[in-house]
Amino acid sequence: MYKLQKEGFSAYLVGGCVRDLLLGREPKDFDVVTDADPEQIRKVFRNCRLIGRRFRLAHVHFGREVIEVATFRGAADDQKDKQVLNKEGRLLRDNVYGTIEEDVWRRDFTVNALYYNIKDFSVVDYVSGMADHQAATLRLIGNPETRFREDPVRMLRAVRFAVKLGFRLHPDCEKSMHEVADLLSSIPSARLYDESLKLFMSGYALQTFEMLRHYGLFQVLFPTTENCLSVEEEGFPRLLLVKALENSDNRIAEGKTVTAYFLFAAFLWESVQVRAKEKMGRGVVEFMAYQDAANEVISLQVKSTALPRHITLAMREVWSLQPKFNARFGSKPSRLLTHPRFRAAYDFLLLRAETGGADPEVAKWWAKYQEANENEQRKMTQPPRKASGGKSNRKRNYRARAKSNTTESEI
Ligand code: ATP
Ligand code: MG
Repeated sequence: MYKLQKEGFSAYLVGGCVRDLLLGREPKDFDVVTDADPEQIRKVFRNCRLIGRRFRLAHVHFGREVIEVATFRGAADDQKDKQVLNKEGRLLRDNVYGTIEEDVWRRDFTVNALYYNIKDFSVVDYVSGMADHQAATLRLIGNPETRFREDPVRMLRAVRFAVKLGFRLHPDCEKSMHEVADLLSSIPSARLYDESLKLFMSGYALQTFEMLRHYGLFQVLFPTTENCLSVEEEGFPRLLLVKALENSDNRIAEGKTVTAYFLFAAFLWESVQVRAKEKMGRGVVEFMAYQDAANEVISLQVKSTALPRHITLAMREVWSLQPKFNARFGSKPSRLLTHPRFRAAYDFLLLRAETGGADPEVAKWWAKYQEANENEQRKMTQPPRKASGGKSNRKRNYRARAKSNTTESEI
């Protein structure tokens, strides 16, 4: 910011960082806004890359950090050719530059439209953002319906901020969200994938999930999951997903990492199972049934949220390793243990076991197996000895059973 100022430009911190600093929280990143246009920004900084088509802006690299530097957006009236709307009113391109007074109206929520001026260390507020911030309210700037139509992703942002900040949505904002939720389906799937990562990997996944469902937004992001959830109201599907989201939030709270593929595997697992079972009912063998089901579910899902190939590959691995946990004799367990995806698949097995989808004994066995030394592991995987003596053995068994008077199933 000082560098921009030195070159004669103005520079402000804006958006999430000001909002979060006012709450005494550490901002996730810093967004800078200036009156320099992208080409001018490029000239000021050596380590600068211009990115984006819909919103052209500069990424300034400082070591491993990237600061996003945007140019003030302008009012579009006199430069219509630089702003493109589609027939639903969605902004496809928006590269009209202007002044801070114009820029403020282009921002989504009032609390995201506070500008911190390094010149005099003041916060510039044109839209009563400070009052809303104090009242912990998320209010869209301008007419909520128009603003949601312009960019339906703002509905996801509303949920994300409400959950993360503990703010409530302004009633007007809430009302139009119910009305235009479906418009979210017009957003390119790659952008929805990016947004879903932000929604579910920031430490508030469970609450976010509940709130997205409440506003009818979840079904746009995960249609096959929503179908499963609505069919089985109090069954296991909901539990597995809820547990996965809860675990993921706990991990983040403990400073551990979470992976996108694990969450997506959890989101889609029930859909895969339902389809696979239906196929097996029609006589398809288990392995093929699961593989076909996974293919179907993934190709449906990528219509809503594009999934990178490394993610779908890892999801498939986690799923396809699940039946392998049942093989506990011979060399199979030790081979499974060295599989690069073992850890994730085992965590997934635990989730299933905790929520009634897998035998808890199997999960316990694997916990013990991992702790055991080589000798113990060998013992654990020895097949039970088969009765070899034919008639005499059978007779002995029969006698023993008769003597102790136990039932078949107890033996
Ligand atoms: P965080 O970075 O904590 O997720 P943020 O508010 O900084 O939250 P960014 O996506 O970094 O969110 O965007 C920075 C600022 O740009 C926002 O605060 C907002 O003012 C503006 N902005 C971002 N996306 C939109 C959008 N879809 N519509 C309108 N304004 C937006
Ligand atoms: Mg930000």
